[in-house]
Amino acid sequence: YEMAYKDIRTIMRDTITLLETQAILHSIEIESHFSEETLWVRGVENQLKQVFINVLKNAIEVMQDGGTITVTCMRDQSRIIARIADRGPGIPEEQLSKIGQPFYTTKEKGTGLGLMVTYKIVDNHQGSIEVNSRVGEGTTFDIILPYQEPIE
Ligand code: ADP
Ligand code: MG
Repeated sequence: YEMAYKDIRTIMRDTITLLETQAILHSIEIESHFSEETLWVRGVENQLKQVFINVLKNAIEVMQDGGTITVTCMRDQSRIIARIADRGPGIPEEQLSKIGQPFYTTKEKGTGLGLMVTYKIVDNHQGSIEVNSRVGEGTTFDIILPYQEPIE
């Protein structure tokens, strides 16, 4: 569990590669937009990968009829934003506060643990998560982490 300076684009790229087969099986295309500059964060690579796996997996699972998931990685001044947007059913307003609570799931075979772990890891990295959702349109997860350039 070593903290190191990492490029979030590399971690996200590896995650997409890992889930590509699953996406294709669901007729889903993962479209990615990464900024040109290196998106430095300081963190534990495997944990950050786990964060992206959990959110991307949820996106794949809700896109029952296939379609496009859009992944964007960018910098906004001192913050790195990794955005995963699906065009699934969305999350009703009254359920939004429940996601991330242990064992909260709406899936027949869900565990309700993925987002709990996700929030915990992001919190340990001094980051935050913003969820925007519209029923019938889709859901966007913004994983926000401090931009941290390596010290020479
Ligand atoms: P699980 O995937 O096992 O259900 P998670 O913690 O990953 O557990 O997610 C909890 C719940 O949050 C899901 O069951 C679902 O109701 C909701 N959720 C998470 N991501 C999405 C999404 N992209 N679109 C709609 N609902 C979502
Ligand atoms: Mg899940």
